[in-house]
Amino acid sequence: MDAEKIYTFGPVPSRRLGRSLGIDFVPFKTCTYDCIYCQLGKTTTKTMDRQEYFPVGAVLREIEEKLKRVSRPDYITLSGSGEPTLYSRISDIISGIKEFSDIPVAVLTNGSLLWIDEVRDAISGADLIIPSLDAGSEETFLHVNRPHSGILFKEMVDGLCSLREDFMEPVWLEVFITGGVTDTEDEISKIKSLVDRIAPERIQLNTAVRTPAEEYVGLVDRERMEEISTFFGSNCEVIADYGKVHSLGEFSSTEENVLELLRLRPCSIDDISAGLELHRNEAVKYVQELVDKKLISMERRHGKRLYSGH
Ligand code: SF4
Repeated sequence: MDAEKIYTFGPVPSRRLGRSLGIDFVPFKTCTYDCIYCQLGKTTTKTMDRQEYFPVGAVLREIEEKLKRVSRPDYITLSGSGEPTLYSRISDIISGIKEFSDIPVAVLTNGSLLWIDEVRDAISGADLIIPSLDAGSEETFLHVNRPHSGILFKEMVDGLCSLREDFMEPVWLEVFITGGVTDTEDEISKIKSLVDRIAPERIQLNTAVRTPAEEYVGLVDRERMEEISTFFGSNCEVIADYGKVHSLGEFSSTEENVLELLRLRPCSIDDISAGLELHRNEAVKYVQELVDKKLISMERRHGKRLYSGH
């Protein structure tokens, strides 16, 4: 157990969920995948072992307290810095939230465990599920997602189809297009066939707008993304930039604090998160925003990414 673990982050502006209060109850980079594009870096614990990693009561208490201190978010989002369905009591988190709040609960999952009936049941109390599909074939799946050996491509896709059949609320499918790997005509066609089988309410296309785990992962330009979106059909969108949401006062003031810190000394994401008591994911968002605005730059020292303010 990690006594210092912070379970909530935000509300942060989300490209698709408005103001989202993020909930994180799995240890950092504990995941079933090790995606080459992961913005949180390489997976340190690749596992399929579902556990109550942190006490469910402590997570719920922190969410309830946080909701008293912040203005009402649009969603409470179970996501965080690993795969949330690895938390064995995720259903208790969802039902617990619903006892003290009527804010819709979204689950952001990589979808790798949805072929397991128990996992689909565990998240069935959510109001929205956003799983991912990033590859059209086994070969690309192994390359892009680098899954745990117990996860088979076919089973994973079947799990996504079963979710769509069983779950009464909306399913939005996120498809991450990896530049130089899955942005080819052939791969996009294969992904589309699977998406047609899954038939989600919405399809949301993403690409490497944030620093990926592997430097060779390419960003797909806006024009190509729009082209792919048109090919996928009218319920597909490129996830909009959240620049406008970031102009919210609460976001700007924390962003200034991050910038001030980085003008004082170069810091890693962990340093920022410890120094300003921010969740790592929140620190990642501020840093990305400041990089985009060219107010800070990144350099590598001793294998660590350090950010400095100009
Ligand atoms: S992107 Fe998500 S699914 Fe992929 S390694 Fe990172 S946390 Fe896991």
